[in-house]
Amino acid sequence: MKICVIGTGYVGLVSGVCFSELGNEVVCVDKITSKVQLLNKGEIPIYEPGLKHLLAKNKERGNLRFTTDLPDAVRSSDIIIIAVGTPSQPSGQANLSYIEQAAKEIGQSLNGFKIIVTKSTVPVGTNEKIQAIIEANSRYVFEVASVPEFLREGTAVQDTLQPDRIIIGTTGEKAKKMLVELHSPLTDKIMVTDIRSAEMIKYASNAFLATKISFINEIANICEKVGADVTQVASGMGYDKRIGSSFLKAGIGYGGSCFPKDTQALIQIAGQMDYNFKLLKSVVEVNRDQRFNIIHKLEAVMNLSGKTIAVWGLAFKPETDDIRESPAIEIIQDLLNKNARVKVYDPIAAENFKQTFSLDVEYSNSAIECAQDADALCILTEWKEFQDISPKTIHSCLRYPVLIDGRNLYSEVEISETDLIYYSVGRPNMNKGQREQKPLLSF
Ligand code: NAD
Repeated sequence: MKICVIGTGYVGLVSGVCFSELGNEVVCVDKITSKVQLLNKGEIPIYEPGLKHLLAKNKERGNLRFTTDLPDAVRSSDIIIIAVGTPSQPSGQANLSYIEQAAKEIGQSLNGFKIIVTKSTVPVGTNEKIQAIIEANSRYVFEVASVPEFLREGTAVQDTLQPDRIIIGTTGEKAKKMLVELHSPLTDKIMVTDIRSAEMIKYASNAFLATKISFINEIANICEKVGADVTQVASGMGYDKRIGSSFLKAGIGYGGSCFPKDTQALIQIAGQMDYNFKLLKSVVEVNRDQRFNIIHKLEAVMNLSGKTIAVWGLAFKPETDDIRESPAIEIIQDLLNKNARVKVYDPIAAENFKQTFSLDVEYSNSAIECAQDADALCILTEWKEFQDISPKTIHSCLRYPVLIDGRNLYSEVEISETDLIYYSVGRPNMNKGQREQKPLLSF
């Protein structure tokens, strides 16, 4: 099939590359010329494991190309996939300006029957708006479909090639036939539904996953008070098939470009219909508070003013360079507000962080360099690279032996072999000889 993908971000680029891998003829469009130039050289503007190799392979085979010429890309394709961003507005509502612009440009470019697919996460009713915009700009017949995307950054290629399910929301007979055919090589779990339900499935899925995260974080906070271990609690819960073990990892809360904006958007969608989504509002509030537990734990052992705090991890999760809504942003900002000197390290996301925020932090070239002579180390992202550094090594680097592990990277055994003052999330105090009492540094 001939496919045009509009937007070469995490979703558009991965989808385009994977559809070309299946043997389709794909053209990816972006309005940022520098991105397209980079892609045409075989480089990728994002970090996503496995993507560069597939891109090079399919470019070489001649079934993948990149352009800024949207009209030409639309005209030469049968299926047009919209994968532009839908960021949050200050109110929490989704900003649909990129979607509306793309729809207008598609309408102006049609030269015959096409299937227009929305992969971007959009509020219920948006595909109807897209249809109206295209109709207002074109005299050609077309069908629309909502095919929401569920990939996770860091495993996006694998998620796209082996999805848990494909949701196709459409009333168009041709769209249904062609989209089922397009996705059939990927999975047999293809659900065809109406457009509004498809749009809602995406928000409901993300809201549910965010709820699981906030739920386990609240359980972790209670575990800390009652002396239980949240990792044990989560394992015990996860054996129950009705619950499942995924997304029950306590930490510093969710971030990224999806959960924060999609939960806010769903609260707004409900609110516009006079429905107060109380549960989801609490999920968001719990998540906002959870990151600051890192600071509270630090402040339990030291006055932050004038101290040097090392931070490992800026990306909102490992295996991505995406720092959008990363908890690290607010944690670092709070440390700086409290007059701490902050040194940071991230294996992949540091450059993005540096380009995006003008925060007064020192960037280190390695995890060890970052921890060297710091008064405390905070771990904010569970990169494998950090896990491979032993608590003993961390102890030998730090000026004061304070380790705040926001991702529960280390086991009780590893910690008990050191004299680290160690706080993790929702686990009993593991500090040597101090299991019952809170260690306090008088500095
Ligand atoms: P992104 O911001 O990384 O990329 C969007 C791209 O679209 C940018 O490169 C931008 O230049 C381009 N663009 C915008 N308007 C354009 C136009 N008119 N013509 C050509 N290019 C245009 O976004 P993303 O993270 O890939 O997300 C895209 C959508 O997918 C969002 O709605 C998001 O919520 C949803 N989604 C994202 C993920 C994820 O993990 N990132 C997962 C599932 C769903």
